[in-house]
Parts: sequence; C-alpha cells; structure tokens
Amino acid sequence: MITYPFKYKRAKSVADAEALMKAAPDGKLLAGGQTLIAAMKMRLASPSDLVDISGLKELSYIRVANGVVAIGAGATHFEVAASSEVARAIPALAYLASIIGDPAVRHKGTLGGSVANNDPAADYPAAVLGLNATIKTNKRSIASDAFFTGMFSTALGEGEIITEVSFPIPLKASYQKFPNPASRYAMAGVFLARTKDGVRVAVTGAGPCVFRVPAMEAALAKGFTPDAIAGITIPADGLNSDIHGSAEYRAHLVGVMAKRAVAEAA
Ligand SMILES: Cc1cc2nc3c(=O)[nH]c(=O)nc-3n(C[C@H](O)[C@H](O)[C@H](O)COP(=O)(O)OP(=O)(O)OC[C@H]3O[C@@H](n4cnc5c(N)ncnc54)[C@H](O)[C@@H]3O)c2cc1C
Repeated sequence: MITYPFKYKRAKSVADAEALMKAAPDGKLLAGGQTLIAAMKMRLASPSDLVDISGLKELSYIRVANGVVAIGAGATHFEVAASSEVARAIPALAYLASIIGDPAVRHKGTLGGSVANNDPAADYPAAVLGLNATIKTNKRSIASDAFFTGMFSTALGEGEIITEVSFPIPLKASYQKFPNPASRYAMAGVFLARTKDGVRVAVTGAGPCVFRVPAMEAALAKGFTPDAIAGITIPADGLNSDIHGSAEYRAHLVGVMAKRAVAEAA
C-alpha cells in the first residue's frame, strides 16, 4: 500500500506557526482545510508538515474603525456573513460571504485560506480587488493590485502567513455572482465598488485569475448607471472554457453581472 505520511502540528500563535513553517522542509498552513484537505486526498498536494492555524484567536476578529473593515485571516465565511458590523459597513461583503459554497464550507473555510488559495472561481478575491483592500501578512502589507498574480498564485512568499485583510469602506458596492449550480463557485462574479476616488470593477470566475475591467471603471466614473456599460463587451480570448461554460458564455455573463451590480449599487 502506498502511504503519504505528513506531520501534523498545531500552532499556538502566529509566531509559533512561522517557526514551525521555517522548520518544515515542505510545510503547508492548514486553516479551514476546505481546499487543502481535498487536494491532499486527491494527491494534488503532499506536504511534509501541516501547520494548523485554525482557531487562533489572534487571527479571528472583525474590527470596523477609521473607514476600514479589518478582518483577521482566520475569520470564517460564516462569521463574516453573520457580522452586523460588516453588514452595516459593507453589506456587499457580508452578502458575498453568505453565498460561498454551503453551510459546512462557510463554517470551516476562512478569509485567509480563500485569498491565499486564489482559486480562479473563488468569491473573496473579487471583493479584495474590487474594494482595493490591503493584505497584511506576518512580514508586510500588500496592495490588492499586486497580490493576485495568476491562477492559484499570489505574491505570498514561502511560508508567509496572511494575518488580516483590511477593506476600505466604499460609498457603494455590490457583488453579483452567477454560481455554478453544483459547487456554488462563480461561473462569473462581479464586485463593483464606488469610492470618492472612482469606481473599481473586479471579475472572478471568468478568467484564470481575478481581474479588473478598466473600460467599465472609466465609463462608470462618468455615469453610474447600467446603461453606461451596456456597450462594453469583454473579449472571450483567454477566458475560462470548460464543461460548465464556454469562454464566450462567461464573457457574456460578466456584462450581465456587471449591469446588475451597478443597478443594485445605484
Ligand atoms: C464544496 C465546496 C464548495 C465551495 N464553494 C465555494 C464558493 O462558492 N466560493 C468560494 O469562494 N469558495 C468556495 N469553496 C472554497 C472555500 O471557500 C474555502 O474556504 C477556501 O478555498 C479555502 O479556505 P480554507 O480556510 O479552507 O483554507 P485551507 O484549505 O486550509 O488552505 C487553502 C490554502 O491556503 C493556505 N492558507 C490558509 N490560510 C492561510 C493564511 N492565513 N496565510 C497564508 N496561507 C494560508 C493553505 O496553506 C493552503 O495552501 C468551496 C469549497 C468546497 C469544499
């Protein structure tokens, strides 16, 4: 029988997790395990060590102050969805968390795990990019525009630990997702935010990595109505095409979701 041994270590703090990761030849942080455990079961990942950071109190908080919603990386999707503070400050963010996967996924999955994993169809990356959030790690702060670097890839270094994501509170925002009916992952999801500096439009699900749509942002800065972007089409070139939908279908969905997002936010 082939076995895939690994060591399991429960971190007592972020500093402890950092030390345990340094000592591991090929370690991985374990948060909610909703992606990592499945990847290990399918032999897509075989870490030497699992450093468990789930349940760390220092990573599990939600604070709203000075125009920012700061959420600890360990906050579960359920906690974000259920937070009255998030709902008051950025209702679109609470809504986004409430429609991730199913109740089991929402009770275990974490903000940090989702952002670090950067699944092309995940919801949080759209909010992080759309709201121009800052990703804080045990080493530095990273702007959202520099964080998502490609499919399942980010600016995080080896063993770097996300500790917090801080979301500036926009004037208006909306998240519209066309979910895959089986997994609830986004076929196409659009997070739109209007701030005093302009408009940001971030798309998940449609491409290999979350991306912004500058043409829509410019049009919406001039006129914040669904009609302002009615004539803007997203090229299908380079978009995802699979058994769930073609690139052309996803390109069309982006336009539809974007118009719905503007209508809701306006
Ligand atoms: C059935 C199902 C349906 C789902 N549907 C959706 C959906 O509709 N939308 C959606 O967005 N997601 C969906 N997900 C994914 C879910 O949101 C997970 O929570 C997310 O992918 C990973 O979070 P996690 O806390 O479970 O991370 P884990 O699985 O524990 O870790 C994932 C990766 O992130 C790394 N990591 C974890 N925490 C940190 C940290 N603090 N710093 C640095 N790296 C870290 C790990 O080392 C690992 O590489 C679904 C999952 C399942 C199983």
